[in-house]
Amino acid sequence: MECISVFDMLKIGVGPSSSHTLGPWRAAERWIQELKDKKRFEKVEQITVDLYGSLSLTGKGHATDYAVILGLTGADPERMPIENIDTIINAVKTDEVLMFNNERAIPFNFKTNIVFNRKFLPFHSNGMVFTARINGRNYKSTYYSIGGGFVVQEERKLAKANKIIFYCTFPYPVSYGEELLKFCNQLDLPISGVVLENEKSLRAESDIDFELKRIWNTMLECMYTGCHTEGNLPGGLNVRRRAFDTHKILIGDYTYNSPQEWLETIRKTEVKFRQILKWVSCFALAVNEVNAALGRVVTAPTNGSAGVIPAVLMYYLVIENHDADFEHIKKFLLVAGEIGSIFKKGATISAAMGGCQAEIGVSSAMAAGALCELLGGTPEQVLVAAEIAMEHHLGLTCDPIGGLVQIPCIERNSMGAIKAINAAELALDTDPKNVKVPLDKVVNTMWETAKDMNTKYKETSEGGLAVGVHLTDC
Ligand code: SF4
Repeated sequence: MECISVFDMLKIGVGPSSSHTLGPWRAAERWIQELKDKKRFEKVEQITVDLYGSLSLTGKGHATDYAVILGLTGADPERMPIENIDTIINAVKTDEVLMFNNERAIPFNFKTNIVFNRKFLPFHSNGMVFTARINGRNYKSTYYSIGGGFVVQEERKLAKANKIIFYCTFPYPVSYGEELLKFCNQLDLPISGVVLENEKSLRAESDIDFELKRIWNTMLECMYTGCHTEGNLPGGLNVRRRAFDTHKILIGDYTYNSPQEWLETIRKTEVKFRQILKWVSCFALAVNEVNAALGRVVTAPTNGSAGVIPAVLMYYLVIENHDADFEHIKKFLLVAGEIGSIFKKGATISAAMGGCQAEIGVSSAMAAGALCELLGGTPEQVLVAAEIAMEHHLGLTCDPIGGLVQIPCIERNSMGAIKAINAAELALDTDPKNVKVPLDKVVNTMWETAKDMNTKYKETSEGGLAVGVHLTDC
């Protein structure tokens, strides 16, 4: 039985991509630990990192090389000051020396010690081979970034089965929506209640609350930063940040001094009906502009789709329920995480495996289900909401222009958020007995669609907008 915690689905990290930035960063950390466990770390004379498949094709735009360097220097993606990133990278580029795990100085050439191979490794399209040179011999380790910041090391049996297994000890293990409903009925709990019981088997409820608050605060700070940062995004496309402009018009003359005060201020403003879509879009744009600028975000379930869940949660807090408190936020995040894990187990959350339906589609389904529960939906209706949201993202391709997580990614988050809200509303008016497409069917359909999808639409920037629009057009 696979077991994925909410905290595996919602992770604090650095943009722009969970599979191309956070994953390789984590892989470098894991490789260091592997070297230490094998007593090789102290003997390493030279390091080479080979990037394969999607990591090599869009790695430059996704800052994969930066992420690998940061991981090799021992920086923590959850806590390192974002403003230190440039300093570390520039020091490696200029001095041609890397502080390996911040312990040992090793010669390192940015251009030759990170190799962008255009080939694909057989198991997964996001492959990395770390090579340590020790006493004239090469020691190689292969890792795969399988989406959402998850990393696996090559392991023959699992690689053959093309399946990743997460073993677990949850009291109410869930792989399918049907199983989740069975536990809800058995325990007479909403979906958030069942998920909480599972999480409590891993950590105390006070720790769960602490971590969920940390996740929510990171989301809120991210939206706040995005709404208050003007200018163009890095990367060469000269994409103008739009959240700043939209927010300025929406917030008017109100003043505040912190993200929390900002949230309370928006709650006090009288949001007109036609402004609701603008606010939701603004929240989503803000997150993904921060993400595109290598800022701190919560992968939900990936970095490219990190704006959907905060935007929909903000919609609930500032439009639907001005009295909502942490208990509501907690329920929302628990449900969202569980729905994301069902997609991860039954299909994929990796755009390199399934295109954008695996990112924006899944995040929209997560948000739709979570919102539906907060709006009073039954567990059955929550799954209907998730199903509706995914059904209308099926087949969505991944084709970021220039390999940058900017176009179409940033806008696509606002679309995913709006669809999630609509899906929740439709589900609330739906009798689940009349539903023709249950969640488990759409998960399976998404996976089959992913397998059928042409490789050029799976985060390679070799199809769609990425070839239809040239950098010089932008
Ligand atoms: S197009 Fe979608 S899946 Fe691809 S990088 Fe952008 S947000 Fe991610």
